[in-house]
Amino acid sequence: MSDANSTPVGFIGLGNMGGPMAINLAKAGYPVKAFDLSADACKKVAEGGATIAASAADAVKGAKIVVSMLPASRHVEGLYLGDKGLLALLEPGTLVLDSSTIAPVSARKVAEAATARGLEFLDAPVSGGTAGAAAGTLTFMVGGDTAVLERATPLIKSMGANIFHAGGHGAGQGAKLCNNMLLAILMIGTSEALSLGKSLGLDPKVLSEVMRRSSGGNWTLEKYNPVPGVMEGVPASRGYTGGFGTDLMLKDVGLALEAALGSGACVPLGGLARELYASHSKAGHGGLDFSSIIGLINPQP
Ligand code: NAD
Repeated sequence: MSDANSTPVGFIGLGNMGGPMAINLAKAGYPVKAFDLSADACKKVAEGGATIAASAADAVKGAKIVVSMLPASRHVEGLYLGDKGLLALLEPGTLVLDSSTIAPVSARKVAEAATARGLEFLDAPVSGGTAGAAAGTLTFMVGGDTAVLERATPLIKSMGANIFHAGGHGAGQGAKLCNNMLLAILMIGTSEALSLGKSLGLDPKVLSEVMRRSSGGNWTLEKYNPVPGVMEGVPASRGYTGGFGTDLMLKDVGLALEAALGSGACVPLGGLARELYASHSKAGHGGLDFSSIIGLINPQP
């Protein structure tokens, strides 16, 4: 029997990322029991082949692997820790894989509590956006023991194309924060260049292609152009809905700065990027995709 057919999975958090990830596990043959606080999110995943549980505790009953994809540290700690947390309910030997982007220190806290209960834990945040989640091509950055990662690899491969072992517990989150701070800065830089181009009378499609193939080329120009109409299927071309929320990016850059304070690293552009995403959020755009930051630089991109 294949790993997929024999391994019951409990999946908590079925939002923009978790929803398609849970569906990919179900498609790969894993018996997935899933839960989200949002009935709408549950409905989509039920249509994708998973069974919907009545609660998080119900979702993990009998699970050999538990996957979570929640917004932030407080949600993950709230789900797993304490007398009523899920760790207290899981059978020893159960593998817990948290793919949310959270503080490395939080990941280590949950890892320690899991280990103390005889459970296995990996922090395994992802990159690749909602399109990558739907296509099953995410990049996983993993913190934890090599043997545990080997055990999780078949399951991770049903959701992603690249797996990097970043180090011990919390290292996956550290790698993710470095990546997202860079992405936050790149999106602002790309927005600024495209806005300058517009003021010079350049066509944003032509300019995007010029920069994509020149030394300014980067992921935002390849996959996630912030100007409406330049690229199909990206949040900018559907009113900045779906995708990766501004408030989630603000959280990630905040976590990167917090981590930098702890380690003594110098991150001046990260600091400036956080201020810009915070202003954008304060202006009421926290729920829009983070590429809408172009509206802060040029209100009519
Ligand atoms: P989202 O807001 O779309 O989804 C989060 C889901 O968690 C929601 O459906 C919410 O109802 C659910 N939830 C919250 N608390 C819960 C609880 N206690 N029990 C059950 N469900 C609960 O967020 P998302 O875009 O899917 O992002 C999830 C995580 O992945 C975040 O940490 C984010 O930073 C990270 N991430 C997002 C992207 C992206 O492109 N959206 C890419 C990489 C990483």
